[in-house]
Amino acid sequence: MVTPNEAAILKEREHERNPQEAALMIWIKVLSTTGWTAILGVLIATLVAIYGFKISFSATPVYAICTFMAIYNLLLFLHVHRLEESHIQPLERTIRIYGSIHIVLDLATLTVLIHYTGGIENPFIFYFVLHMIGASIALERRVVLYLAGMALFMVVTLVGLEYFGVIPHVNLQGFAPPTLYREPGYVIAVLVVLASVIIISTYMATSLARVLRRRQQQVIELRERLLHERTGQLEQATQAIAKLEEEKNRFLSFISIAAHDLKAPLTAIQGYLWVMLGGFSGEITEKQRNMLDRSTKRITELLNLISDLLDIPRIETGQIIEEMKDISLREVVRKSLTDLRDTAKEKGIQIKEEIPPNLPRIRGSGTRLQQVITNLVSNAISYTQEGTVTIGLTENPGHILVEVTDTGIGIPPEEQPRIFEDFFRASNVEARGTGLGLSITKRIIEAHGGRIWAESPAPGSEEGSRFSFTIPLPPGSRTKRRRKQ
Ligand code: ADP
Repeated sequence: MVTPNEAAILKEREHERNPQEAALMIWIKVLSTTGWTAILGVLIATLVAIYGFKISFSATPVYAICTFMAIYNLLLFLHVHRLEESHIQPLERTIRIYGSIHIVLDLATLTVLIHYTGGIENPFIFYFVLHMIGASIALERRVVLYLAGMALFMVVTLVGLEYFGVIPHVNLQGFAPPTLYREPGYVIAVLVVLASVIIISTYMATSLARVLRRRQQQVIELRERLLHERTGQLEQATQAIAKLEEEKNRFLSFISIAAHDLKAPLTAIQGYLWVMLGGFSGEITEKQRNMLDRSTKRITELLNLISDLLDIPRIETGQIIEEMKDISLREVVRKSLTDLRDTAKEKGIQIKEEIPPNLPRIRGSGTRLQQVITNLVSNAISYTQEGTVTIGLTENPGHILVEVTDTGIGIPPEEQPRIFEDFFRASNVEARGTGLGLSITKRIIEAHGGRIWAESPAPGSEEGSRFSFTIPLPPGSRTKRRRKQ
């Protein structure tokens, strides 16, 4: 059974030429080019014969024949051109028919040409053989033999009609004796040699072409088989991906339910702990206070993890798209930094802003982008002992670039490729964390059509890290060029 994928590929391939068709196309083009060469050759040979070798015969019929050749050659040329452009099916048969008609016309023209240029006296009579070789390359042996018969019939008829005086004979004066065409020995010898050369060369050329065609057929079959196998594999891979996607969705919904169910009791427990810590449920000793303190911290961490876990399915199911509106990234950064300045101050870390005043607005989810910037800046603060955290915004053609650079511990080079994976935490960190912040950040940026990456050490420095992301500007958005100061 043909699957939809295979059907699409087969449909695509309907317009693609198979090797046999391509070879035939080359053949018919060569036939057409040879036609022009032949016309030129006939004209040159005539002029050389008349003016070079002083052979006297009338050139007018030769020019008329050349004109006729040029006309049908031009027609063939135009047909070949049309064949190349169009998707005529079956192409092979059409090319063969064109080729056969061309060869028949060539044989007839050569016969008339030979008649006007000495008949059996003309050594070019052997040019009939060339046509048979040309035909053998592409046509079936049966057809070539038929054409060979036709060529012999034409020559014998011509020579016979001249011999018996039914049609006049043109003598190549100065080249052959005027009565040569009536010498039975010469006439028979030329015809026998010509017939044998035509038959032998036809047999040899068609045999060779047969072997080559069979080989070509084998190559085509092999190609078809490989394509079929590949299509099957592709189909299997697509099914596997769809299955994985389904499993992932099921897993995400399981996480979502589990996280949701855990959140309510944990929040309640944390509430009770705060009541106890506040002394509302009776006096507590210092030791009990410490234990309760540690418990609330652990519960806060757990609640953070739960809220991260709940975020993943929300982002993956495209919730961000619904939240998108026209917003100012500058405002988003400002809001995020308000909450983080105190933490930075406590650690003695300076926060620098490099934000140009007239940035264009973007389309995005304000809360989600605030989550991204908060996560990147709070990571920068967490993983920096001393120094600065710089947040920079730059307008570029088509997007705004946001960069958060710190002077902190950096990320080991071998671990950098995994930095955005779920639950990944580098080997050089001690502070607690979920390892989900960056993976969620990446999901949010990608849902906005942007890109995120990390560099460590930060460019232009030997320490720290730089996290950069882009947010595309809406189409038609003004792209400002800052004037050089
Ligand atoms: P978390 O911070 O909760 O561990 P994240 O997903 O936010 O989770 O970060 C994943 C890991 O990436 C961190 O554990 C840390 O190893 C590394 N990391 C993130 N930001 C920085 C930074 N600014 N400097 C050094 N390492 C960082």
